[in-house]
Amino acid sequence: MPYARPVLHQGNLPPRTAQRRALTALLALLACVALVGSVYGWSVRSGTRQLHRDAERRLAFLSNDLASALDKYDTLPAVLASHTELVATLRDASDAGQRQRVNELLERLAQETHVNAVYLMDAGGTTVAASNWRTPRSFVGQNYAFRPYFRQASEGGTGRFYAVGATTGEPGYFLARAVRQPLTAPPLGVVAVKISLDDIEANWARSGERLALLDAHGVVFLASRPSWKFHGMDPLPGEVLAVIRSAQQYGDRALQPLPLQPLASLGFEGLVQLAEGARPGPALLVHRQPVGRMDWTLVSFSDVGEVQHLARGYAIATAFGCGFVLLGLQHARLRRRGDEERRIARRALERADAQLEQRIGQRTAVLLEANHELARKLAEIDCTQRTLRATQDELVQAGKLAVLGQMAASITHEINQPLTALRALNDNAVVLLERGDQPAVRGNLQLVDALAQRIGGIVSQLKGFARKDDLRQEPVALAPVIDMAVALVAANVQQEGVRIERAAVDAALVVQGQAVRIEQVLVNLLRNAIDASRLTGDRHIELQVRSDGNMVSVAVADRGPGIAPDVRERLFEPFFTTKAAGQGLGLGLAISASIANALGGTLTAQDRPGGGTIFTLSMRAACVNSPEATQA
Ligand code: ADP
Repeated sequence: MPYARPVLHQGNLPPRTAQRRALTALLALLACVALVGSVYGWSVRSGTRQLHRDAERRLAFLSNDLASALDKYDTLPAVLASHTELVATLRDASDAGQRQRVNELLERLAQETHVNAVYLMDAGGTTVAASNWRTPRSFVGQNYAFRPYFRQASEGGTGRFYAVGATTGEPGYFLARAVRQPLTAPPLGVVAVKISLDDIEANWARSGERLALLDAHGVVFLASRPSWKFHGMDPLPGEVLAVIRSAQQYGDRALQPLPLQPLASLGFEGLVQLAEGARPGPALLVHRQPVGRMDWTLVSFSDVGEVQHLARGYAIATAFGCGFVLLGLQHARLRRRGDEERRIARRALERADAQLEQRIGQRTAVLLEANHELARKLAEIDCTQRTLRATQDELVQAGKLAVLGQMAASITHEINQPLTALRALNDNAVVLLERGDQPAVRGNLQLVDALAQRIGGIVSQLKGFARKDDLRQEPVALAPVIDMAVALVAANVQQEGVRIERAAVDAALVVQGQAVRIEQVLVNLLRNAIDASRLTGDRHIELQVRSDGNMVSVAVADRGPGIAPDVRERLFEPFFTTKAAGQGLGLGLAISASIANALGGTLTAQDRPGGGTIFTLSMRAACVNSPEATQA
C-alpha cells in the first residue's frame, strides 16, 4: 500500500475563506482611505489654525509697526500750529517776504522730518505756504477746504486722512491741525503734513506677503500688490462712493471690488480665491486687524496652498504607511500561514515517518520470519543432502559389493567348473590306472591339460582386465592385424560353419596403436559375432574397413539377434554377460572398450538394418604412413 503523502495547502482556499479574506482586504482598504482622508483633513485644519495664529501675530506686528510709524508724526502738526512764523503768515497773508520765509521754513522741516510735504492753509483752505513751493506741483495757491482733514482740523481736532494727492496725484497720509492765537480763538488756518507710506508699501512688497490696508470704507489704499490698490474689498454702496468722490480721496478711480471669490469647499471661514490676471489664483485665508485711529483695517491673505501641499504630503505618507502596514500584516499573515503549512507538513511527514517505521517493522518481521524459514529449509536441505550422500555412499558401497559379488560369482563359477571336472578326471585317472587302462589315462590327462589351460585363460583374462599399464602407441599397418585376428578365430569359424566376408584392406592403411591390442579387440568382436550368429542360424559375418583420413574404422557386422535395450545399457560393463555359465566371463567388451579408449579411439555398437549388430572400432590414422609401420 503506498504511503499517504502530506497534502500542503497551496492557494486553493475554500470559497468561504476566500470571501472572508476579500472582505477583510476591502475593509482594510476602506480604513486606509478613511485614515488618509482624516489625516489630510486634520493636517489642513491644523495647518490652517497655525496659519491663523501666524497671520494674527504677523498682522499684530505689522499694524503696530504701521501705527507707530503714523503716530510718530501725530504731534508734528500740533507743534507747527503754535509756530509764530506760521501764525504771523496767516495773520498777514499779503506779506510776500513772510510767506517766502515760511516756505523755506516748511521746506527745511519737511527735509528734516522726512515727510512728503508740509503746508499751511488759510482759514478758507487756500495754501499760503508749502514745503514744495519750488516744485511745479506746488501746493501753494491750491485750496484743500474740501478735504476732510481740513474740516476735522478746523473743527478743533486733528485731521487725519489718507488720500491721493489732488495736486500731485501721489497718495499720502495727511495730518492736520488748526492754527489758533490764542488757542481758544477761531482758527487762523490749518497746517497739514503729508506723509508718504511708500516705504511701508515697498517693505510689504519685498516681504512677499499678501497685505492690503483698507480705509474705513473698505477701499484698499495700500497693498503689497500694486494691482490691488484702489479696489474695494467688497462692492461699495453708491452713497459711500459719493462721499469718497466728494472728498476726492482717490481721484476719479472707479474703486471696483477686488476679484475675490469666496471658497467654502475647505470649510473654513474667510477663505477666498483672488484672481491674478486671467488665472484663478490660489486659495487664500483672509485675516483682518484694525490699525491706528483711522478705522483702518490691515488685511493679510495667507496662501493655504502650502498647508494643502503639506497635508497632501502627510496624506501620501499616511497612505504609504498604511500600505507598509498592510503589506507587513499580509507578510505576517503569509508567514503565519507558511508556518502553519510547514507545521501541518511536518506533522504529516512525522505521521508518514511513523507509518513507514511501522511498515518497516512489519516487513522486517516478515523478512525475519522468511529468513528463519529459509534457514530451516536450508538446514533441512543440508540434512537431506547429508542423508543422500550417506545413501549414495551406501549405494556405491552396495554397487561395489554387488560388482565384487558378481565378479566373485563369475570367477568362482568359471573356475569351479573345470575344478569339478579336474576332480572327476582325477578320480577317473586313479580308477583307470588301477585297471591299467593306459590309453584312457592318457585321454584323461589331455582333458586335464585342456581344463588347466582353460583356468589359465580365465586367470589371464582377469589379469588383462586388472592391468592398467599405459599402451605404447606406434604406427601399425592395419591389414596384417586383421589377417591375424581372422586367423585366430579360424578354428571357431570352422567349428560353427561361419563365413567371414571381408574386402581387401589397403596395405598402406596405418593406424596409431599396438598390433597385439588391436588384434585382441578384433578377436573378441569376431567371437561375439560368431556366438550371436549361432543364436539365429545366419552365420554370415562381414568385416569392413573405412578411412576418412583422420580416423580409420573396422566394423564387424553379424546377423545375430541384435542387442536388447536393457542389454545395450550394460554392454560395456565388466562381468556383464547374457551367455550361459561357462560360456562367457562378461569382460570381453569392457576390456575392448578400455583398449579403444587407450588408443585414442572408440568402440560402439549399433543395430544392423535387417537384423543383427554392427560393432565398430575407430582408431586414429597414423601421421606417418611409412614402411616401418609394425607388421603383425
Ligand atoms: P561374454 O562374451 O563373455 O559374454 P562380452 O563382454 O564379450 O562377454 O559380451 C558381453 C555380452 O554382450 C554378451 O554376453 C552378449 O550378450 C552381448 N553381445 C556381445 N556381442 C554381441 C553380438 N555380436 N550380438 C549380440 N549380443 C552380443
